[in-house]
Formats: sequence, structure tokens, C-alpha cells
Amino acid sequence: MPIVIFFLIHWYLSLFFQSFFHHRYAAHHHFRMSRRWEKIFFIISFITQGSSYISPYSYGIMHRLHHMHTDTENDPHSPANHPGFWRMMLETRNNYFSIHSGKTTVKEKIKKDLPQWKAFDAIAHSWITRITWMILYTLFYISFATAWWQFLLLPLTIIMGTLQGAVVNWWAHKFGYTNYFVNNTSKNILPVDLFFWGEAYHNNHHQYPGRPNNAHRWFEFDTGYFVLKLMHKTGIIRLNSYGKE
Ligand SMILES: [Zn+2]
Ligand SMILES: [Zn+2]
Repeated sequence: MPIVIFFLIHWYLSLFFQSFFHHRYAAHHHFRMSRRWEKIFFIISFITQGSSYISPYSYGIMHRLHHMHTDTENDPHSPANHPGFWRMMLETRNNYFSIHSGKTTVKEKIKKDLPQWKAFDAIAHSWITRITWMILYTLFYISFATAWWQFLLLPLTIIMGTLQGAVVNWWAHKFGYTNYFVNNTSKNILPVDLFFWGEAYHNNHHQYPGRPNNAHRWFEFDTGYFVLKLMHKTGIIRLNSYGKE
């Protein structure tokens, strides 16, 4: 079963770094880190997201726009505006590339303090790099697949980061429970989040986007925040609110 194990490890690592670096650090600044660690996490995000790597800088802009304009026509990804999972995913992709290429005009204050490494992103974000990843994934599947159906996971491996972003952003604005009455469709998609590193508590996150711990009720547990606390203790990051949560 090496393919299934690989797929699961890839799922958790890719999503962890999207949550940790793109979402909680770039977009929300829940914690600080040195420039050196920032560069290391650019590289680790690239390795774990592979062909679906997106720029933390452009993601940060897109995500801040999502919080500012949730469910309105200016929301870059809202199932209320773009019904249907695949349609919303495509729309998100188009909006993302429009931001990344500079076609979308973005106010200076939205870009404030976003981590940026232009030289690295120029390589990591290029089509040549993405195609190289796709070839490597395909060779890995050919070498280690033990049954034909495992190849059904290959397209999901290729689009992993995009798929994960879309699953959270679509599902968490469609189905689930709410702890807070907010003026948007955000929901907590799972009471016990074993799959999304705490990103499942999206209604909590929309209510308190500045809070690093997304778990607000006794049965909720934010595994991503748990890792953040460990990283804080080891000195890799500095949580702004450590000891206050
Ligand atoms: Zn949302
Ligand atoms: Zn957010």
C-alpha cells in the first residue's frame, strides 16, 4: 500500500503547511518568525505542495479579500456566488492567477506585511516546475502502485493544495454547524477535526480571525494550534497570544 500511505502523508503535510504558513502566518500573522525561518518554510511549503504550490504572498491577498468581502461579489471564492464544487474551484483558480499576475488591482493596505520571495516564487510557481513535479509523481505511481485503482489518486496528488483549499472553502461555507451568528455562510464542518488541522472550525475562524486557536468549545480541538504551541516552545515561531488563549 505505499501509494495510499504516500497519499495520506501528502494530504496531511500539504495541508499543514498551507494552514500554518499561507493561512495563519501570511494572511493572518498569528505569530512571527525570523526571515531565515520564513525562507525555510517557503521551501518546505514548496516541497510538500509540489505541483500545486501557490505563492504565500498571492494567497495572503486572496484570503484577506475573502475575509473582507465574504459572500459578496468581491469574494474570490464563495459558493454563494459560484455554486457547485468544481465551478467554485475553477473560479478560485482564475481569481488567484489574476491576483498573482497583477491583473487584479489590490489596495496597499491589503498587501501589508505579506511574506514575499519573488526569486523563489518565479521558479516554484513556473509551469516547467509544475510539469516536472507531475512527471515525478507519475513515475512514483508507476514504480509503487500495486493495483490499477491507485492511479485514480494521481490527479488528486497533482492538484492536492488546490483541492484542499477548495474543500475547506466550499464545504465550510455550505454544510456544518455554527457556534456564532455571523453575517456570512461560514460553518464548522466537523465537530472533531481529524483531517484539516483545525481549519474545519471555519465559523469560529470567521468570528475571530485574529485568534490562532480555532477550537472554541469543549469538544473541539485544533491540532494545528497544538503544533504552533510546540513550535513556539522550541523558539521557531513567536505566537502573539501565547499564554492568553
Ligand atoms: Zn470563509
Ligand atoms: Zn482566515
